[in-house]
Amino acid sequence: MTVEEKIKYYVDVYDNLLDFPVYLGIIKPSIKIPDGRDFECCCPLHDENTPSFKYKEKLKKWRCFGKCNTGGQVTKFHYLYLKKQLGDISVIDSLRNLQMMFPHLPPIVLTTTKIHDENKIVRDIQEMINPSGIKAEDINVLDYKSDSEFFLRMFLFNVEEYKAQ
Ligand SMILES: [Zn+2]
Repeated sequence: MTVEEKIKYYVDVYDNLLDFPVYLGIIKPSIKIPDGRDFECCCPLHDENTPSFKYKEKLKKWRCFGKCNTGGQVTKFHYLYLKKQLGDISVIDSLRNLQMMFPHLPPIVLTTTKIHDENKIVRDIQEMINPSGIKAEDINVLDYKSDSEFFLRMFLFNVEEYKAQ
């Protein structure tokens, strides 16, 4: 598993474990969110006076039809939300921040220790610490990488799928 695949794995796990309306209710208590239903509101990711932000419960996805012109689930929203507040943040840091907000999410483990011993017990421990076999130097690169290409690979969003519903 590459670092990207590993991060994508956490994105999928977090999105499956989190409920967008609950999440939005925590970070934006001012927005009235109906229980278990679709809703629309002014986009929390850009300034506007007429609502262009929609959430579909059936898809478990949000979409901004206005300036943002994008959509997704909780992890992508949180990344964009932090980026708006802080100016710049990496995908990994936004996931770590989300995990701190919701401690029931599994913490991100990407670190590794080089172990040369062929002893099976040692290998088992290594597997436990770092199941993906990711090298520390790879992580440093990704930790500070928040360019749009990487972002797009992490948060794929099918616009056609959303429109069809
Ligand atoms: Zn927007």
